[in-house]
Amino acid sequence: MPAELNLVFVGPPGAGKGTQAARLVDDFGLPFIATGDILRANVAEGTELGVKAKEYMDRGDLLPDDLVVELIMDRLAQPDSADGFILDGFPRTVPQAEALDAAMQQAGRRLTAVILVEVPDEELIERLSGRRVCSKSGHTFHVKFDPPKHEGVCDVDGSKLIQRDDDQPETIANRLRVYHEQTSPVVSFYDRDNGPSGAILRRVDGSRDPDEVYRHIRALIATVRMEDTL
Ligand code: AMP
Repeated sequence: MPAELNLVFVGPPGAGKGTQAARLVDDFGLPFIATGDILRANVAEGTELGVKAKEYMDRGDLLPDDLVVELIMDRLAQPDSADGFILDGFPRTVPQAEALDAAMQQAGRRLTAVILVEVPDEELIERLSGRRVCSKSGHTFHVKFDPPKHEGVCDVDGSKLIQRDDDQPETIANRLRVYHEQTSPVVSFYDRDNGPSGAILRRVDGSRDPDEVYRHIRALIATVRMEDTL
């Protein structure tokens, strides 16, 4: 039986984690658990969590750990995550990483790899400020790097393209600050020695062409899986 593939994507906002993770989902058929997407769905539906989350999200701040940890632990306990999962946007703080470690250990499981997608801040600012999102299905475009055929209109379903509230310049600056202050320590957390296979952190240069980044990630997963069977 193939080993479980329990993957975590870490990286600053705009690094392309979501895009890369979505391609892996297509290839491996694993559930894709993106905290930001789950929270945005809650905001759109006006749930109790969504009402609380919106305040933090609009400012570019992180939600309190307990709220997010509960949300993700419930999701990981669903049967479809039993053979593996791809987490995007969680953990974003050391306490979240510790909670995930504890839950995995309790379930007799472990993370296969933590993939860090790195991109310099200047490039992230350009990517995020030009990002436009389909108001209906979330397809993403970029005014410069991936413009829609007709300005302001989604190529896929003709819906209006909008700019996420948290892609406004002041919020972008805050999200990057929050990343460096609160999420960078998560990188060190996973870069520590993790037993016989060493550290589980794998670094990927996210400033390259998305296809190249994807090939690197695939190669890296193949290596980790091979090491797992040795
Ligand atoms: P994202 O789409 O991953 O950039 O997430 C959008 C926003 O959701 C973030 O700026 C935070 O406000 C919130 N969020 C997402 N993931 C987390 C997390 N793991 N912990 C706390 N807040 C989060």
